[in-house]
Amino acid sequence: MADKVKTAFLLAGGCAGCEMSVVDLSEGLVDALEALEIVFWAPTVADVKYSDLEAMPDKFIDLAFVDGMIRNSENLHTVQVLRQKSKILVAFGACATLGGIAALGDLHTKEELFSQAYKTSFSTDNPDGIYPTPDYMLDGKYHLTIPTFLDNCSTIDQVVDVEYYVGGCPPHPSFVGKLVGAILAGDLPPAGSWLTGGKAVCDICKRNPAITGQERLPVGEIKRTIDGQPDFEKCLLQQGYMCFGPVTQGDCGASCLNVNIPCRGCGGPIPGIKDFGARCVSTLASSMANDATAAQFIEKYNNMAKMFYRYSHTASNLNHKIAQRKEQ
Ligand code: SF4
Ligand code: SF4
Ligand code: SF4
Repeated sequence: MADKVKTAFLLAGGCAGCEMSVVDLSEGLVDALEALEIVFWAPTVADVKYSDLEAMPDKFIDLAFVDGMIRNSENLHTVQVLRQKSKILVAFGACATLGGIAALGDLHTKEELFSQAYKTSFSTDNPDGIYPTPDYMLDGKYHLTIPTFLDNCSTIDQVVDVEYYVGGCPPHPSFVGKLVGAILAGDLPPAGSWLTGGKAVCDICKRNPAITGQERLPVGEIKRTIDGQPDFEKCLLQQGYMCFGPVTQGDCGASCLNVNIPCRGCGGPIPGIKDFGARCVSTLASSMANDATAAQFIEKYNNMAKMFYRYSHTASNLNHKIAQRKEQ
């Protein structure tokens, strides 16, 4: 096939789960390869060097996916280079689009993070308390460098232009196939779009009271999943479990609800929401029966920021406010 879509995958500061989801296409990936030419997939799958990417002509890549957020200087550099080499750049997954779970580290100081990672965690053996040193001269003759840890995480669109956004931790792999099909057909959505079916998790959830006929009542008692097994048939929010389904994109097929776990919002906000965490707060608070329920909620979930901004802290107004406060 002459006009295969030159495609690239780059893992920035994430866990590579998004790329596992692409591999989960299994036989579908073999079919997709009839339309794709993978020209770069690093650092996870192919043994390619960043210099290979740097050597490509500008806009050589038709379609590039980045998963993971910007956490260190290497992430920043490679994403900037990939942007230069690509016609279409997709922020792929919760970390790339919103910051993701690891970016909750920005709610701590660098010293707290390093101390936990390199000194105090149960599995660490580091009696001298040595931290990674970005720039080091060994024996007076070997200059060793590693990426620099940046002051804050960034989403991909906070450092380069992004054409499309795909939510999920990880995303549903079908989006790769959809994008390739749209490129081949010359039928791409407007730049800046989230690629989503546009439905909330509640819209496709089998427990939705509108489907089951369950009466919707104000939530009187707040529960956590450690409090016991929820009823498998009924709406979790109605049972008192904090479910973000009303405000989250449902492209996952309500997978968590199918295994009796509340939605935590990895799919990203349904269109039109400016601050995902704030909308989750207002939605869940409006379902509570009274002040006593709200007080119980605060007692049971003692870290609100990490609860509501689990996937979206970096893209949030909260983060912007914290950054402004640090600058003052
Ligand atoms: S979005 Fe989830 S699966 Fe993807 S890199 Fe981030 S943490 Fe991993
Ligand atoms: S709140 Fe949760 S459990 Fe209830 S219908 Fe929505 S997604 Fe399903
Ligand atoms: S139900 Fe919610 S948290 Fe679970 S996969 Fe879907 S969007 Fe993510």
